[in-house]
Amino acid sequence: MTCEIIAVGTELLLGGVANTDARDISQGLAETGIRCYFHTTVGDNPGRLKEALRIAKGRADIIITTGGLGPTCDDLTKQTVCEAFGLPLELHQPTWEKILSFFKAVGRPVTENNRQQAMIPVGGILLENDWGTAPGCGFQKDGLWVFMLPGPPKECRPLFQNCLMPILRSFSDTTIASRNIRVFGMGESAVEDRLRPLMEGSRNPTLAPYAQEGEVTLRVTASAATKEDAIALIDPMVSKVTALLGDVVYGVDTGALEEVVLTLLNSAGVRLAVAESCTGGLVSARLTSVPGASKRFLGGVVAYARSVKETLLGVDGQVIDRYGMVSEQVAAAMAEGVCKATSAELGLGITGLAGPSGDGSETPVGTVCIALCDARTGVATALTRNFGDERGRIRNMAALTALDMVRRLLTLPGILC
Ligand code: ATP
Repeated sequence: MTCEIIAVGTELLLGGVANTDARDISQGLAETGIRCYFHTTVGDNPGRLKEALRIAKGRADIIITTGGLGPTCDDLTKQTVCEAFGLPLELHQPTWEKILSFFKAVGRPVTENNRQQAMIPVGGILLENDWGTAPGCGFQKDGLWVFMLPGPPKECRPLFQNCLMPILRSFSDTTIASRNIRVFGMGESAVEDRLRPLMEGSRNPTLAPYAQEGEVTLRVTASAATKEDAIALIDPMVSKVTALLGDVVYGVDTGALEEVVLTLLNSAGVRLAVAESCTGGLVSARLTSVPGASKRFLGGVVAYARSVKETLLGVDGQVIDRYGMVSEQVAAAMAEGVCKATSAELGLGITGLAGPSGDGSETPVGTVCIALCDARTGVATALTRNFGDERGRIRNMAALTALDMVRRLLTLPGILC
């Protein structure tokens, strides 16, 4: 079966609100095996909503609308949908009584337009809303199922999950499952190039890349009678992809790189501290966004000025003069300095030129030096990269590359023993 989602709300068209309801519903549909080919967004306008419904009728088996179920005069969805399908509305007495007792409890008067919320299509079903006042509803007509859900995500999401998903599951005899392979250190086009034969030659499962800044996620999706059968189709493809890409794969169904790094730090029983110059705290921010980071992340120093590198991190001024502020030697001295200052077993040092202007030296904008120091052995490993000329990208790539250095160190067997 196929489903089309029609989100109703002028605020969505104006860009004031992102259409997260459609995303949430699509994610749920994927689990039920129902394919979603179209997301339509339309303003609070009965004529254009009818037009959207006419088009959806011709290309979907199920239509799910969101929004426009409230009591105000721009909440026109139910009335318009019912007109489009030639169905009258009738009062749903238990819902009306629930609304009356809600208003009594909060001590506010009930107005006539609150009755609208208790109206449902004749012969239709009610989707009880335990998370707000506007219930959802649905009906079957002209060979289609139509469901209407409220707009606020905190109502739409649970209503969809708890009331509509069980109904949708009963429509379909297939389940769709996916696994996500996370990649850092290889660009999207290089990943696609290497995987093209696999992508082109496979229908079930399918293999699709999604690029975020600096990273690529590969989603392997299969449909089958049960989730277990779908996973059995997916897993051989996951193995082939990871074998083809090698150590740029940092996880399958894992969180972001910082989460993987913290998990690895936990397993190794070591603590990390960071000294950041051009990233200005981005590595620390990423790490501290993960709950429980405090177990393994000790802290960071944003050492932007030369004086801070020297005084707080103990970087020798002669090293800076000799090798330059953006050098592997200075990055290594920063990493060693932060290990000493915090007693961390591992320390990262990051120094670079994020631009747009240079620093008067010959070092080109985009150059970043990153060092990782293992205080137990006293060994510091350093690398130099150029991440282009866009300040935001340079800083983000520097932060991710630093985290990836830690990931690589911790996944190379024997290094930490
Ligand atoms: P209410 O009873 O609150 O009026 P409703 O069903 O009439 O609910 P709308 O009035 O259309 O819904 O939207 C209420 C709010 O819900 C919007 O201001 C918006 O913040 C949010 N919202 C609506 N549609 C969506 C959507 N598709 N995705 C995310 N948020 C949405």
